[in-house]
Amino acid sequence: MSIHRGPRTLMKLALAIIESARLLFWTGIYGARYIASTSGRRGMDQRASARLLRNYLLRMGPLYVKAGQILGTQTGVMAQDATDEFRSFFSGLAPMRGRDLRETLRNNLPLPVDQMFNEFDWEPVAVGSVAQVHRGVLNTGEPVALKIVKRGVPERLRASASVLSALLATAHRLFPAIRKLDGPAHFAELRPFLTGQCDMRAEAARQNAVAENFRTHPFVRVPRVFEDLSNDRVLVMEFVDGIPGEDVDAIAEANRPDLARRLQDVFYTMAYFHGLFHVDPHPGNVMFRESGEVIILDFGLVGQLTEEDKWNLASFYFACVRGEWDYAVTRCTRAFIGNRGRIDDNWEEYSRGLAEILQHHFEEQNDRWSTMSFFNDASKLLNLYDARPTTRFTLLSLAFLTGEGFVSVLDPKIEIWANARRFNDKYSPYMSDELKAEFEEEISRTSPLSTALKDDADRALIAPTHLDRYVLPSQFPIIVDQAHGSRIRDIDGNEYIDLSGGYGPHILGYAPDVAVQAIRQAAQIGAVNAMGNRAELELAEVIADAFHPLNRVILCNSGTEACQVALRIARAHTKRERVAKFEGHYHGFSDQGTVSSWFVFSGEKYRPRAVNSAGAQRAVTEGTVVLQYGHPSAFETIARHADELAAVIVEPMPGATLEYDRAFLQQLREVCTQFGITLIFDEVVTGFRVHFGGAQHLAGVRPDLTCLGKIIGGGLPCGAVVGSPEVMEYGRTSGDPFRDVEERAFVGGTMSGNSLSTAAGRAVLTHLRDHPAIYAELDEKTRWLVAAMTASTKELGIASKIKGSHSMFNISFDYASPKLVRDKVAGTNIKATIALGYYLRRHGIYFPELHGLFLSDAHSHDDLEHIAESFAKCVGQMDEHGLFLA
Ligand code: PMP
Repeated sequence: MSIHRGPRTLMKLALAIIESARLLFWTGIYGARYIASTSGRRGMDQRASARLLRNYLLRMGPLYVKAGQILGTQTGVMAQDATDEFRSFFSGLAPMRGRDLRETLRNNLPLPVDQMFNEFDWEPVAVGSVAQVHRGVLNTGEPVALKIVKRGVPERLRASASVLSALLATAHRLFPAIRKLDGPAHFAELRPFLTGQCDMRAEAARQNAVAENFRTHPFVRVPRVFEDLSNDRVLVMEFVDGIPGEDVDAIAEANRPDLARRLQDVFYTMAYFHGLFHVDPHPGNVMFRESGEVIILDFGLVGQLTEEDKWNLASFYFACVRGEWDYAVTRCTRAFIGNRGRIDDNWEEYSRGLAEILQHHFEEQNDRWSTMSFFNDASKLLNLYDARPTTRFTLLSLAFLTGEGFVSVLDPKIEIWANARRFNDKYSPYMSDELKAEFEEEISRTSPLSTALKDDADRALIAPTHLDRYVLPSQFPIIVDQAHGSRIRDIDGNEYIDLSGGYGPHILGYAPDVAVQAIRQAAQIGAVNAMGNRAELELAEVIADAFHPLNRVILCNSGTEACQVALRIARAHTKRERVAKFEGHYHGFSDQGTVSSWFVFSGEKYRPRAVNSAGAQRAVTEGTVVLQYGHPSAFETIARHADELAAVIVEPMPGATLEYDRAFLQQLREVCTQFGITLIFDEVVTGFRVHFGGAQHLAGVRPDLTCLGKIIGGGLPCGAVVGSPEVMEYGRTSGDPFRDVEERAFVGGTMSGNSLSTAAGRAVLTHLRDHPAIYAELDEKTRWLVAAMTASTKELGIASKIKGSHSMFNISFDYASPKLVRDKVAGTNIKATIALGYYLRRHGIYFPELHGLFLSDAHSHDDLEHIAESFAKCVGQMDEHGLFLA
């Protein structure tokens, strides 16, 4: 090893020495020029200083050019004309020598140029500090662009980075006054960005990731990479035609405002939704087409935001939109400040100062929004407290700064803040003021009693009634007087076809005869609980038989309880503690059930971290292992935690996608068996809905335990765990009190197995068992409705995802089809989905805002036709009202 390392280390050393000499030489020369020019009477103006610095950086090489590009536009450092000087950095850079170009191509293309290309343009179409771009036509006839790293640049970049890093570390140690700048830490974070730009393979990966995020986007295009033709020095991609961003005059004037607005949206989409943003969206990196397409190029610098960053950014923005300055200050500080300096010791004063700045920029000055001036003010304040923003934020601010500068050139009249607000508004769970006012007026007219009663209810009643849902409160809740079949009637006498299905229990519709009779009879003979009763025994038998004749059942009162019971039994059975669950899967509202379930996410995509809402026990949250459904990383994580995992709990057919992944479930089954982990299927929603039994019957995969709820109570509260006797035994008394405490899980519940719920459940389940055609019909109805709805959005060209299966369906307005729940939540037009609920209400349809939808056996074909027709009318109107503006 050392034999090989020796010459390479020597080479690096030599380069570092040359680099240091170069640094000393040019610093000396330019330092002397600077001193000479500032010693005059009037000193040097900012622009001239910037020009000097620019030339110095050019001499110093690619790392400094890039650093200048990033650091030079940092908040508060320079005035506008000095910044302009830096923007001119991007033109006039020299290409590599012809000989070097030929050699680079010879060494890095799979074939010689004349064999690989029908045409190759030796004149570059663009030259940057790190690479140059050439156009060619492959021998297949496809036009391509080749991004070729300039010869010697990677070595120089690395040498410069090492020297600079050593210099910064020394300066940091020697001069206490500059320590607060935290130079070495800042540089360590930036270094991979700076040196990583000459690795075309890494750039290809970044370009592919961004392209994937925009794959089905209505107007954004990212050139496709030819991976098999690319390597670390040459990136081959499709050649896309368009009007260069620098050539604004070539774009029809009438099209410019729309393109500018779209471009601004693109920056926000990348940051807020994808968390993968172009750090340098200057005009040279963007092209347009008159058809409205925006083409993004050059992924040398791509910033990444974590889920927490996205959350912080969105929550900060949300507070600013609502003018809630206290929240805005806390969120801004949490989101953007890396080193808090003396902020916490002077919180009162600091927060007052920041609130004033925020209010000034976001409220008083918002018609003249300037990110630059906002950053200026904010960084002056931060300096007072020796605080500094995070590097990620610095990069993001750079991106916004550059991007907003560009859109203002494209459309000088653009209202940056108004457009940002519109964007934010579209994805927030609240309606815009205008729309809200329209429905408020209308609904208070058509449903005066409901409106009044909602306000009344606010005085005494909190959340779980679904008047005020967590995170996504209903603006206009319905207060129901009667429910029958597929219909509900509110207390104002308005009738609606219901699509909520009460979130799932009412598979036969409301008040089906079988359930009503069973409940009436059970009530008449005296409802009992805490004692054995015939109905509970019979319900247990029907449930067990639906899964496996040898199975055992424990009854409880809800889906939440069923999941809790199953997990406790699994712990007793395996004598292990921890539980693994999947991100985006909800298992009821227990501390464990809500971990990373649907309202907040954390960690890297395939290494998600556990998060929870306020009030949940931290130990439970942090002890939970979080996995991604349908992805092999789940098996690696399970294997890593295998000897501490009691259970893996999963929604086999997740509510977010309504699809099951058979191969994944099969492998999950194998892995759990291999490691002795209890596999729990949460079929609280899918149980007896998608099949008599559950989704496991469709997938052909058997878990150890299944959690049930909803339908099994026939409309009354009920839950159950069903599973194999070996595992379920751990919920049964052993007959030895000492053994019970030491080995068996305690399972209780005053109302568990009460005769009313179990009688209703038994009646509904036996009806389903005896009428299996119901399942086929429900599936057929769902397919019909989904197809009809999809056809109407397609006809109007509205980006939508309407998914449905076995009586369940959901609708989102989104161009993308992300696989992970976290990506689904970000980026769908929430505003439109909420609005759809109220538009449909005008047609006598109740569509619960932002929830899964359920059909029942009681929905007739006429009902479905009315729903489909009304849906088409509503989306048409919503389109006219601009709710789908792309
Ligand atoms: N698991 C899943 C998959 C659910 O969707 C729900 C509720 N919708 C629950 C568990 C909790 O059930 P419950 O609301 O009856 O407590």
